[in-house]
Order: sequence, then C-alpha cells, then structure tokens
Amino acid sequence: MSVVVLTNDDGIHAPGLAALEKALGELGDVYVVAPEREQSTCGHALTLHRPLRPHRLAERRFAVNGTPADCVNLAVLGFLPAPPVLIVSGINHGANLGDDVTYSGTIAAAMEGTILGVPSIAVSLLDGGDFDVAGRVARLIAMRVLVSGLPPRTLLNVNVPAQPPLGIRLARLGHRVYLDKIVEQADPRGRSHYWIGGGDPRWDAVEGTDMGAVHEGFVSLTPLHLDLTNHRALVQLDDWSAGLTAQLRGETARPPRRAPAATPTRKPRRG
Ligand code: MN
Repeated sequence: MSVVVLTNDDGIHAPGLAALEKALGELGDVYVVAPEREQSTCGHALTLHRPLRPHRLAERRFAVNGTPADCVNLAVLGFLPAPPVLIVSGINHGANLGDDVTYSGTIAAAMEGTILGVPSIAVSLLDGGDFDVAGRVARLIAMRVLVSGLPPRTLLNVNVPAQPPLGIRLARLGHRVYLDKIVEQADPRGRSHYWIGGGDPRWDAVEGTDMGAVHEGFVSLTPLHLDLTNHRALVQLDDWSAGLTAQLRGETARPPRRAPAATPTRKPRRG
C-alpha cells in the first residue's frame, strides 16, 4: 500500500488531526508526523539550528519538536519506509482563506510537500464547524487527487464552512481587509507592551473568491502555486529595467569616491 502522510499545525493532539486520520485511514498506509505542540501561524518556518527528534507515540504516529514544514521534510526525505504519494495537512481549527494563507502552518506543510514533489492538500474548518464533516470532504478530495493527480507544482487549499456544505466550489484567493490595531498595555512595572493580530477579520466576500464560497455555505477549493510573481506587473514595470540599468551604469561608471586618508584627529585642547 502507498504511504499517505498527515500533518497539521495545531499539534499532534488536535481533534482536527484525529478526524483526518479517521477519515483517511483506509486510503493507504497512513502515517501521522505532526508537531508535538501547536504551531499555528508559524508559516513556512524550518528548524535548522537544532536537531529534530521524532517521538513515536504509536506504530505510525510521530510527534516532532518542530514545525509542520519540518514534519513534511522528515516524512518525504527518508524518515518513513517509503516516500508518500499524498500529504494532507489539517484539519485546521479555523479558516485559512485569502491573504491569510501566507501565515498558515497548515498550508506551509502542503507547500513544502509540493516543493518536494508530492501531491499535497491543506484542509481547514471554519470556527464552529464539524470535524467529521470536514473529514468526509477531505476524503473525497484526497481520493480524487490520488486518482487524477494535480497540475504540476500545485497544491490544494480546502476550506469547509461551519454549516453542512451545499457543495464544493473552485475559488480564487480573496482579499482580507485589515482593520487590526495594535493594542498597547502596560506591565506591572509600567513598561509598554503590544499585542498584534487583534480585531475581527473583514473580507471582501467577492464572487469567485474562497471567502465568497464559504460565506455562501460552500466548500472552497483553491489551487495554489508557489510562484508569487505578479505576472501582470512584470509587463507593467517593463520599462523600469532600461532606465534603472542606465542609472546603475552611470553610478558605477563614476570614479569611486575615496574616503579621505585617515588623519589623526586632534582633540581641541581645553583649558
Ligand atoms: Mn492552526
């Protein structure tokens, strides 16, 4: 049987991971390789400055003292008996929509799998939703990926609404409206400290976006790739290249300004 790897960013004891394990248990030799503690909003961080020590909790369950992307590295690059044919990350406790995908450890795990050439899916459930329902959605999509594959260098970002889903909709990333403020407080010694990330997220629930889909009660299914290039801007900024190159050459053609030879500076005498 083929190896399937499950991971998450909520930590190995998270209910969403258990639901995923239950739902995908029969799709292959399922291994769980997940962070030993919560790593939400850790993004794509890797642990390069200390060793990773997987701790075996059951035959195919490993808790790792690292990030979701660390777990995927271990799982794909030789820690398991065979490389996985599929990586599923989640089920995250809470949405990963629009601009927020850049913070998400859940999605970073699927990005890492994609970079390493393994078809990968990230699954998140909106607050208040049912993990068993999300598990069934994850199973359907995982089976489809196993049968049909994915376009090259592409991962799937899946968000399941809190209500029983009306269907599954392909959607692009939406845009988050930031209303966040920093909250300043004083500690008992009177020094200021700050909290970021407060405030309710607001969204442009625009037609065709992931946010719009879940807002209308659908599962959103967004194919993502790691090419962050703004291809339209490449064209728009096309003429920058010649002008900047000319300026650069003008600057570098000038004889380098030499620092004046160091002369011992005399301190003015006083008194
Ligand atoms: Mn999380």
